Amino acid sequence: MTKLALLGATGSIGVQALEVVRGLAAQGERVEVKALAARSRVQLLERQAREFRPEAVALFDPTAAKDFRERTRDMSITVLEGMEGLCQAAAWDSADTTLNAVVGMVGLQPTLAAIGAGKRLALANKETLVAGGSLVTEAARQNGVEILPVDSEHSAIFQCLQGSPGRQAVKKLILTASGGPFFGWDAQRLAAATPEQALAHPTWDMGAKITIDCATMMNKGLEVIEAAWLFGLPAGQIDVVVHRESIVHSMVQFADNGVIAQMGTPDMRLPIQYALTWPRRIPSPAGELDLPALGKLTFYQPDREHFRCLDVCIDALKRGGLAPAAANGANEAAVELFLQGRISFLEIPRLVGEAAARQAAVPAATVEEVLEADRRARAFVRESI
Ligand code: NAD
Ligand code: MG
Repeated sequence: MTKLALLGATGSIGVQALEVVRGLAAQGERVEVKALAARSRVQLLERQAREFRPEAVALFDPTAAKDFRERTRDMSITVLEGMEGLCQAAAWDSADTTLNAVVGMVGLQPTLAAIGAGKRLALANKETLVAGGSLVTEAARQNGVEILPVDSEHSAIFQCLQGSPGRQAVKKLILTASGGPFFGWDAQRLAAATPEQALAHPTWDMGAKITIDCATMMNKGLEVIEAAWLFGLPAGQIDVVVHRESIVHSMVQFADNGVIAQMGTPDMRLPIQYALTWPRRIPSPAGELDLPALGKLTFYQPDREHFRCLDVCIDALKRGGLAPAAANGANEAAVELFLQGRISFLEIPRLVGEAAARQAAVPAATVEEVLEADRRARAFVRESI
């Protein structure tokens, strides 16, 4: 039986994780939800709490926490709030596994809290590894904690590596990218791209921030950094290939040039479930793959000239230290401004590139230093417009 703390319960990944929990229960696989956390969507969180009966619920927003307390007075439930509450939920005593599916850097401290408490960590919150990769992986090593990837590409690589003889047998990782809604667009069209167009992803239905990241290809840049930390490989051994159909979720090329790919319909419930049931495989809600119906799969080089965020992230990874934290922080601020209609689409790569270049690549020795690099990058973006 898994005893789960779920952070980001009201989001795209969080809601699908609870679907997975229901599906597992229907097969007699018990997953007890011990803690739920989110920012502020009180009504949905209340419905989830009434269905899954967690011991604790954490709301980042104190006003929402107050509202939640009033609505659930008939239940015996510990209601936590703020960053402290989020960290308490992440390290909740009776849970053994924490699924971190909050969006953004706000997930860093809860991730560290879960690791510090020795929880198995299922990680969707990629910004955590991008900004604080050295701290997170070092803490996991010290506490003997496993990090199970939920991001579909990293789950794919993790699946391809099952039974692999070790890191020296791996020549490179090949991450696939859908290319997003603006694949093939030229600079003129990109300059006029609207938030509405950027939010229309061709193959995946996700939260707003990651959907914009897919349109800029920042998402793939973040994922290269995420892969470097998860699998302990340098930037030079991580390739990116555009694959429009999102059927091959990523690949591993081994020393003998044999390539193993993980394929499936684009459905996040499979990687979420695998992180919860690994190393076992059991029936999931993901649909069967029908290859003849697809007919063909296509692959292209990424367009690095028009989608500069990819190389900005790879450069930040190569420079190391606090550079990735700055790139990530600048991107979070820039995406917010783009969604508010305050900057154009092409301002995102420009601002992220400048903020990353301004950050000295000094080592990320403490959480405070990572948070400070993040704050500086956000401030730079806001002040530049
Ligand atoms: P989303 O916007 O749909 O949901 C975000 C969740 O985080 C919500 O529950 C929200 O309440 C919570 N949250 C946001 N700010 C918070 C705060 N300050 N305190 C507490 N909770 C807070 O996002 P999503 O699409 O589910 O993505 C979540 C994470 O998973 C991201 O890091 C994303 O990159 C990653 N991811 C998502 C997908 C996907 O298919 N959606 C795929 C791969 C990776
Ligand atoms: Mg992904």
